[in-house]
Amino acid sequence: MSKVLLLAGDGIGPEIVTEAEKVLVLLNEKLNLNLDLDHAKVGGSAIDEFGVPLPDSTLDKAKAADAILLGAVGGPKWDALDMAIRPEKGLLGLRSNLELFGNLRPAILYPQLADASSLKPEIVSGLDILIVRELTGGIYFGQPRGVRVLESGERQGYNTYVYSESEIRRIGKVAFEAAQKRGGKLCSVDKANVLEVTVLWREIMDDMAKDYPDVELSHMYVDNAAMQLVRAPKQFDVVVTGNMFGDILSDAAAMLTGSIGMLPSASLDVNNKGMYEPCHGSAPDIAGQGIANPLATILSVAMMLRYSLNENAAADLIEKAVSNVLDQGLRTADIISKGLTKVTTAEMGDAVIEALNKL
Ligand code: NAD
Repeated sequence: MSKVLLLAGDGIGPEIVTEAEKVLVLLNEKLNLNLDLDHAKVGGSAIDEFGVPLPDSTLDKAKAADAILLGAVGGPKWDALDMAIRPEKGLLGLRSNLELFGNLRPAILYPQLADASSLKPEIVSGLDILIVRELTGGIYFGQPRGVRVLESGERQGYNTYVYSESEIRRIGKVAFEAAQKRGGKLCSVDKANVLEVTVLWREIMDDMAKDYPDVELSHMYVDNAAMQLVRAPKQFDVVVTGNMFGDILSDAAAMLTGSIGMLPSASLDVNNKGMYEPCHGSAPDIAGQGIANPLATILSVAMMLRYSLNENAAADLIEKAVSNVLDQGLRTADIISKGLTKVTTAEMGDAVIEALNKL
């Protein structure tokens, strides 16, 4: 029996996780996956009920689970709270407590959605990039941090950008191995012309490359990488980078595919236990309207089945069902274009279920 914990979170989180859960429940029955599903609160909804974004009861369940599906956390309702108990702290707390250091973010352009991209179809069609982002270190976690008052009386905000050699090697291994399984190309993104921490990052990636002769390693400064991603994104296969650069570049890569509502992600520990979530946030601007795209969350379930639960056949079925639904011309508002059928969140979920039942 494998335990799966569902954390719906805030904003559109409950709407999209409901659709993903339907898919999990169906496959659990259909393929006898022997999954035990449980639920808990995190983020703003946990603050409302327990006063903290990551209650102990949620963390205990997360530790006991083999895999976690998260919707998204955050929203304007909690924006005025102290930084230490903001919804996002729930997410960061899960990532650090479970040591989910390896974030895999595929940016794949479904041929059916070539028109939804803001770039010309010839620049993006067939796009298939994997961004490997370090998730538990770097400037988002470095100490010291805070806002202090200088002798002059002026306030100064500060953070610390730090990576140890072992942290760099750990994420490097994930990236080199991913490149071996894909097109054999790895681009390491840094800012080694300015930041010492990334000089070390580059040095270690070069050293590791000796153990992966089948992978072609290149380096790129982050500003150039941002430019190349929108100029000629198909030059990339696997990209590895630190927490902050990865945060920004993966969102840009997401947009190349037409909608952030289409992209899943995985965050893995050393044993491939993982937390799976869509790349997007809680979309408060459309929450409660039933129009969010649930496909990124449904595709996150496919990644979960593949990376943490070793159920490749079930993962393939989900990806095929999603592709079939797109073939039928069904689109949520974020990916709609002329002549296609606009559907709600629940209708999209139901269409995936129907497609799965036909496979
Ligand atoms: P966002 O990703 O929530 O939204 C950006 C835009 O994309 C919005 O216009 C939104 O409507 C749209 N969008 C996002 N997901 C969509 C979907 N599934 N279907 C259709 N449209 C979708 O980013 P934001 O607006 O910067 O952040 C909103 C809140 O989410 C903030 O509180 C932020 O802190 C939080 N956030 C959470 C996570 C997470 O939980 N992993 C990640 C990023 C942001």
